[in-house]
Amino acid sequence: MTIMYNTIIMKIIRIYKNVLVILFLVLLVSLSEAFGQKENIIIDIDFPGGNIIVEDDDNVSTLYYDITGDTILIRPDLRDTEGNWFYWYFRVTGAASRTLYFQFPRGSFISAFGPAIISDNNQSWKWLYDDVQDNFNSFSYTFGPDENQVRFSSTIPYLQADFDNYISLYKHNPYLSTGLLNTSEKGRSIEKVYIQHPESNPKFKVLITARHHAGESIASYVLEGFLSSILDQDNSPLSPNRPNSPGSSLSWLQENVEFLIIPFMDKDGVEDGDQGKNRRPHDHNRDYSGESIYNSVASLRDKVAAWGEGKLKVALDLHCPWIRGEWNEHIYFVGSGKEEIAREQKKYVDILLSRHSGELTIKPDKSILEYGKAWNVGIPPGQGLSFSRWASEIEGISFSSTVEVPFSINNGQKITPQNARLFGRDLADALSVYLQGF
Ligand SMILES: [Zn+2]
Repeated sequence: MTIMYNTIIMKIIRIYKNVLVILFLVLLVSLSEAFGQKENIIIDIDFPGGNIIVEDDDNVSTLYYDITGDTILIRPDLRDTEGNWFYWYFRVTGAASRTLYFQFPRGSFISAFGPAIISDNNQSWKWLYDDVQDNFNSFSYTFGPDENQVRFSSTIPYLQADFDNYISLYKHNPYLSTGLLNTSEKGRSIEKVYIQHPESNPKFKVLITARHHAGESIASYVLEGFLSSILDQDNSPLSPNRPNSPGSSLSWLQENVEFLIIPFMDKDGVEDGDQGKNRRPHDHNRDYSGESIYNSVASLRDKVAAWGEGKLKVALDLHCPWIRGEWNEHIYFVGSGKEEIAREQKKYVDILLSRHSGELTIKPDKSILEYGKAWNVGIPPGQGLSFSRWASEIEGISFSSTVEVPFSINNGQKITPQNARLFGRDLADALSVYLQGF
């Protein structure tokens, strides 16, 4: 009888081992806090967007790591990524008054201004360093005496909760409506957002997408600025010094253009903290030929076929590039391989260059990465079409383009949510002038 009970107990322990370990760790943190002991530092990723692997951990769990020393070896969790990538986002608890050294022994995964951080002491995201760094493999952080929790990330994250907060500001705006494009593979809602005149028919239509690559969060701040500038017109809180002028470029957009916007093309990747880029067998931005394997892409292709009505003139896809180096530290458009599309891209970018008023600089000679240069040499056959390549074939379209906005540094400037939003406003303003030329 006793032997049977023992066997059953052993079985239960085996089955619930991971849960018990997590409960034990949580208990340990609570106890050490209660008794003022700070020996146990916990690194975890148990929140939306979380991603890290602690290198020398004896594999307690993929969500929690119990840390004892001052130096922590870490790397991004690549999951189903082909090759290397650099998105990471973790939380440190219980390190008040300590200095910790974080090292990435397997590669350079830190941006020019170090990690983005947020903590009990500092409620909004900021970059750790004020000056450009030349160490991309490690950083150290001294936790304040009251800093019990600090989050560190390769860039400033933007998740579902951020979007929900943002869009709720406009729930009574008559020009805005939201709906469901489809449900993701893991059952999450993939939103579609419309900006349209409540009564009159639009002259033109514009399609905007973001987060085909999950980790590229700065694109979402650009999108916020784009949306706000049209919804708020010149009363936008983004540009409080601008007078309200009914004849402005932004109010023209509101009156004449219908927008379809998909804020998260890879919703699961965003919330799960995946890299997204170079996902196997192909990522969301290589899913636009043959039969799409992702629900969001399949639905968008269907949707646009019916929605466009020959009025769809411009399609923009917002991205961030690699973390640093040439063509990764300034804003640019990816030049099309189709001559007529490339010509219209240039026309639009020239308008943007002549009018933009946001803080982030755009260098004329680096504003378009022409087709055939640097990495922009086309997608090898059989690897799947990108959004912008697919959109360039839509009947009546004037141009489509990928827009690259860096993760942390733009021509030496620090990227912030606010200056990224102002760039979004500039995109909208230039779009209005461009479309009024038809
Ligand atoms: Zn991308």
